[in-house]
Amino acid sequence: YADSYQFMLRLKNPCGKVDAKTYQCIDDLSEKYGQKDLRATTRMAFQIHGIRKKDLKTVIASIANAGGSTLGGCGDINRNVMTPPAPVSDPAYQNAFQTANYIAELFKPSSPSFAELWLDGEKAAEVEYWKKDLVQGSTGTNHIPPGTGIITGDELEPLYGRTYLPRKFKVAVTVPGDNSIDAYTHDVCLVVIMDESGKNLKGYNIMVGGGMGRTHNKETTFARTADHLGYIAKEDLTECMKSILAAQRDHGNREIRANARLKYLVHTLGVDNFRKLVESYFGKKIQPWVPLPEWQMVDWLGWHPQGDGKWFLGVNVEQGRIKNEGSFKLKTALRKIVDTYGCDIRLTPHQNIEICGIEEKEKAKIDAILKEHGVKSIQEIDDMTRKGIACPAFPLCGLAQSEAERVMPQYINRINNLMEKMGLPGESFVMRMTGCPNGCARPYMAEMAFVGMGGDSYQIWLGGSPNQDGRTAWRWKDRVKNEDVEGTIEPLLYMWKSQRNGQAERFGDFIHRLGQEAVDKYVESYESG
Ligand code: SF4
Repeated sequence: YADSYQFMLRLKNPCGKVDAKTYQCIDDLSEKYGQKDLRATTRMAFQIHGIRKKDLKTVIASIANAGGSTLGGCGDINRNVMTPPAPVSDPAYQNAFQTANYIAELFKPSSPSFAELWLDGEKAAEVEYWKKDLVQGSTGTNHIPPGTGIITGDELEPLYGRTYLPRKFKVAVTVPGDNSIDAYTHDVCLVVIMDESGKNLKGYNIMVGGGMGRTHNKETTFARTADHLGYIAKEDLTECMKSILAAQRDHGNREIRANARLKYLVHTLGVDNFRKLVESYFGKKIQPWVPLPEWQMVDWLGWHPQGDGKWFLGVNVEQGRIKNEGSFKLKTALRKIVDTYGCDIRLTPHQNIEICGIEEKEKAKIDAILKEHGVKSIQEIDDMTRKGIACPAFPLCGLAQSEAERVMPQYINRINNLMEKMGLPGESFVMRMTGCPNGCARPYMAEMAFVGMGGDSYQIWLGGSPNQDGRTAWRWKDRVKNEDVEGTIEPLLYMWKSQRNGQAERFGDFIHRLGQEAVDKYVESYESG
């Protein structure tokens, strides 16, 4: 029955970067062995769906030999390291990319099992662009003084040990102010801190203990935003990151898998005790958090200068699905662009893609190729679509309880129509949808979220920040049926329209300011006429 099983294969692309050769390879593989589309995930990686079991080895080896990687796309180890998806030459961004690539290398499993299983024991092709981006000098610091308690003594996996981590471990790196990565949702998020000239890296602010996954009706599981752990000098990056990982490895919950993420350890200990625990491995004090400017959610869509004379174009991909369907031929258009211009692709944390390294004189030609293939420009896309994300859910995810990707466009249309009817034309908010409470599309950070609760019903969450800057939404209603959505949210929109503090107050901020009790009271009186 080997042919009866099919798999989803997830790549690991630090910073969301995929060079032209790897993109051509996975595009070919998706046509030959997959379901002829590609999915851009919320963690800036590609997924190929529908690979039959007998073809897995061919596909994994082909990706590795094209310079890509699937190692660490899943599993209880460090996952894809995210950064803002802006390939700009600004020194802060460049340091974020270098740091992310370095962490990806540092936390890569050392065991040769991957090569033994999938590559017949051979070494995969060198990934040149990763190496080039590594922090100069940092790779040499991968030395652990004896007795620090960081290493396990295991020869194959000195850092992870034989049992790896209790659960997946997600790291992101950003620059002050750029919250394109949902900074508060990761196990660890580093913020690069530059010196006064803005040209040189000084150190990092570190957040710990974010995470979205939860289980319905199990209050011991919850979505959580990260805490500010503090600041470290750049020289301490390696040892401090290893110390955080070792703290989770040794003290994370290995008894109850639903409570195994780092967020539960941080929550149980409290951030101050967690800091002391990390310091006991680190052997140094973590310094106070450096104050930062306000966070902005930046989606990096449209054309932007890279700062090196070239441009990148952020292209909206609805629900991350790169496909051909009728006159919409995004997949063909992208392949044509990559083949013609040899450009790198970057994935974004909002399931979109960027076409990078384009000369000024080629911009109009790229626009024309996309238009010919039915791909809308950013000016033609409504704001709800631009801001929204949804997970795959049915029929691709075995954990799905309800639809997400396939119904998201309809939900956006319905809510846009409702707002138009209610005198809120052109208004928008961050709406996210998932097929189950695991939260792959980070729903609990959204201004309004629909979380699958079985069949065609959803839990509705309200009150996240428009910039996703450090608070979760709250659970408002359970089991709202598909056909009841407009009637259920109409009072909220009316309340926002009539009571907000001027046009500038966004939906999520308004709902958060009022709080659950006031919202419920208003909705009750609205419904009773
Ligand atoms: Fe993730 Fe759940 Fe969506 Fe599956 S259904 S992709 S587990 S959120």
